[in-house]
Amino acid sequence: MAKTIYLDNNATTAVAPEVREALAPFLAEWYGNPSSIHTFGGRVARYVDEARERLAGLLGADPSEIIFTSCGTESDNTAIRSALACYPDRRHIVTTRVEHPAVRNLCQVLAQGGPGRPNYRLTELPVDRQGMLNLKEFESVLSDDTALVSIMWANNETGVLFPVEAIGAACRKRGVLFHTDAVQAVGKVPINLAELPIDMLSLSGHKLHAPKGIGALYVRRGTRFSPYLVGGHQENNRRGGTEAVPLIVALGQAAELAKQRMAEEQTRVRALRDRLERALLESAPGAILNGHPTERLPNTSNISFEFVEGEAILLMLDQHGICASSGSACTTGSLEPSHVLRAMGVPFTAAHGSIRFSLSVYNTQEEIDTVVKVLPPIIRRLREISPFGREKLAAAR
Ligand code: PLP
Repeated sequence: MAKTIYLDNNATTAVAPEVREALAPFLAEWYGNPSSIHTFGGRVARYVDEARERLAGLLGADPSEIIFTSCGTESDNTAIRSALACYPDRRHIVTTRVEHPAVRNLCQVLAQGGPGRPNYRLTELPVDRQGMLNLKEFESVLSDDTALVSIMWANNETGVLFPVEAIGAACRKRGVLFHTDAVQAVGKVPINLAELPIDMLSLSGHKLHAPKGIGALYVRRGTRFSPYLVGGHQENNRRGGTEAVPLIVALGQAAELAKQRMAEEQTRVRALRDRLERALLESAPGAILNGHPTERLPNTSNISFEFVEGEAILLMLDQHGICASSGSACTTGSLEPSHVLRAMGVPFTAAHGSIRFSLSVYNTQEEIDTVVKVLPPIIRRLREISPFGREKLAAAR
């Protein structure tokens, strides 16, 4: 079997060996409950504190502003529901058409209302052909009724970066809470929350080489907050439930590694991504880049191969051990083209043939060279056998 070439890091990442090592003792002898009075538990609590400090360090936040959660989805749900609970007289939510389902589906459910539930008004802002937001249009929809703006930092499918600083500044001016889903941004771009007008930020461990099942929500000091999980006094009364100590320690270690590797992410990973992208755009006929050419995460490339089925490409890549994705992993299984590409106005024939490559620090030049060699013949072959592709090619001759 071919060696795996993993280019699907926006779906999930490999747990770093250093992270595995850091969490192992907490699955064995260090099993105490950090809330216990005895020394055995208290010792564990120190490691939870240390992990909180490490994560805060990656974000430029204060440790008291970090709440550990179970995943990015929980962080998003907590932030949105908290804002609505804290501003009960406001009924308007602003978001975009390209949010992850963790934000988009919740906002849509809230906007549907129902018996005994408030009816929220939802503005889902459009994006342009490059996946970018129009800031003027954004500012024009804010009102005294707006309870929350929830706009992602980086799009999971295209890697497009949103101008979170300008968005936050506009929110501040109007006295509106700003939450950003930074699940794809954390660890890939530098973040300094001390200097940014962001009230809440979501992240997820499994996107930055920690295991699945751990996330965090940053809540700026002084921000009104209402817990989502109500129970014990954990997380300073902001999230009930015994702390997932091994996973928290793992996230702390992953945050430390991400800080050390930020420069490599910005240079070597970006160079590998650019090499892959350039080679594919040059050698595969009808290949189009989806998303802004520069305002993008350094690791992500979303390319459409017109008149070819994305799923067919993925299956053939899979035979070579190459892992990528079409649309986002969460929507795979449905034949609907990605809501992100649709919002960007990517033609149907191109949206269906879109592939997302997402790299990590573990990828090598050799792996990229293999993909560049393997993929163009796959595209040519699929075009030949697709009646749609044959017609298109014949018309072009
Ligand atoms: N937000 C974005 C932008 C994501 O890419 C994802 C996962 O793909 C999530 C939220 C959900 O994170 P989790 O899988 O930790 O719930």
